[in-house]
Amino acid sequence: MTGDPLSTIVLATSVATAAYIVAGLLFILALAGLSKHETSRRGVVYGIAGMTIALVATVIAVGATSTLFPQGMLGMVLLIVAVIVGGAIGLWRARRVEMTGMPELIALLHSFVGLAAVLVGWNGALYDTGLDGALADIHHAEVFIGVFIGAVTFTGSIVAFLKLSARMPSKPLMLPGKNALNIGALIAFVALTVWYVITPELWLLIVVTVLALALGWHLVASIGGGDMPVVVSMLNSYSGWAAAAAGFLLNNDLLIVTGALVGSSGAYLSYIMCKAMNRSFLSVIAGGFGIEAPTKGDEETGEHREIDASSVAEMLANASSVVITPGYGMAVAQAQYPVAELTHQLRERGVNVRFGIHPVAGRLPGHMNVLLAEARVPYDIVLEMDEINDELADTTVVLVIGANDTVNPAAAEDPGSPIAGMPVLRVWEAENVVVFKRSMAAGYAGVQNPLFFRENTQMLFGDAREKVDEILRAL
Ligand code: NDP
Repeated sequence: MTGDPLSTIVLATSVATAAYIVAGLLFILALAGLSKHETSRRGVVYGIAGMTIALVATVIAVGATSTLFPQGMLGMVLLIVAVIVGGAIGLWRARRVEMTGMPELIALLHSFVGLAAVLVGWNGALYDTGLDGALADIHHAEVFIGVFIGAVTFTGSIVAFLKLSARMPSKPLMLPGKNALNIGALIAFVALTVWYVITPELWLLIVVTVLALALGWHLVASIGGGDMPVVVSMLNSYSGWAAAAAGFLLNNDLLIVTGALVGSSGAYLSYIMCKAMNRSFLSVIAGGFGIEAPTKGDEETGEHREIDASSVAEMLANASSVVITPGYGMAVAQAQYPVAELTHQLRERGVNVRFGIHPVAGRLPGHMNVLLAEARVPYDIVLEMDEINDELADTTVVLVIGANDTVNPAAAEDPGSPIAGMPVLRVWEAENVVVFKRSMAAGYAGVQNPLFFRENTQMLFGDAREKVDEILRAL
């Protein structure tokens, strides 16, 4: 670098711009890598490399500016403190988080992106840019839109976090006229944006911030537990658009590119999940728009029958085919290891054992596949829901291990159910069904499960790991 501070800044800015392009390309490669099992590790490495380059480039750019202005030095100090504090908290949380807690951690991280976009927007409004004419109008529109998307993402993600971590009931909030409230808020946002572009007064920004915070809260609170996987990926998309909006305000190309990548890939993932779960994409992104209040409560629907571990062992020993459908409870109990051992023993006895995996079993897509792979269950007996569903009617015993919503016949048979239309594993068609759970409590969507009261179903109460261990001993 030369001794002239101005040329130092020009050089540092050019280096940062070039580094941002490289980082942007690495992020694209990361997304491509993450789309397949075999290349996912490489994808993560690309992502880490891209983020490291982006951080270093930002530090260099801020460091060069700090040589020119006294407040630049303050910026440098703040940046370093922010990187250290943020990095330490991120590392601590990522090391401690259980796999079952991943979606709620992701929801919380999205809320930070939303909050950052709101703060950047407010900063853009308070800071005099010296722009006038059409450029000033564009700036004001960017501020307003950035604050709106950021605030919706912020409160929406907080509600998703609270629902996923069971700190708030997962049932949908059904305010009277909820669709009209959402549409009214959107119309008010458009009108306020036009108003703010014409007369950029601060009170308008305050109004839109409060409106968007309330809308974000209401949108996600209105969505039922069963649709939460879609909501998490939808908030991922919103957080991308919020980051892109912040990028326009900060004149930062990397934020625009990265935000657009996250925004569009999150939207596409939400679309794929909606198709897989037979949900209307527009209805889910509009906060359960058009979804009516369920017509039934979650009252008990009959008598259930209990069974003990030794009787299950006997039933399994005499079975010709067994299908295991795991769910969230298997993850909580960490029962995948004894389940893998049980599979091994039954296969040695000549029983045809397979697994049926629902696309949203557990708390994140692919959750069950990862657990079973961890316990070394062979891949070729782990089948997707569509591959196993037609074979369940010819199965002697289905073991439902800690699954509930994903095997609920109400989804297929009761149009008034909150999870009506969601594809489920048709386990009730098998000759015998054994449900492993600790109580008669409802699943994540908060809906009672008529499977428990079917003639061919028996309940094995207790912790799934302990019960599978008991079956193994009895075998
Ligand atoms: P559910 O969450 O519906 O039910 C899990 C069951 O496991 C409960 O009935 C619970 O009953 C039982 N359980 C909990 N702990 C134990 C234990 N230690 N031993 C034995 N049983 C236990 O599970 P599913 O996997 O069937 O469904 C997933 C739900 O989560 C769906 O509603 C889905 O939409 C939602 N979801 C999925 C996401 C994804 O991407 N996969 C993300 C977010 C939400 P009890 O308390 O009586 O033991």
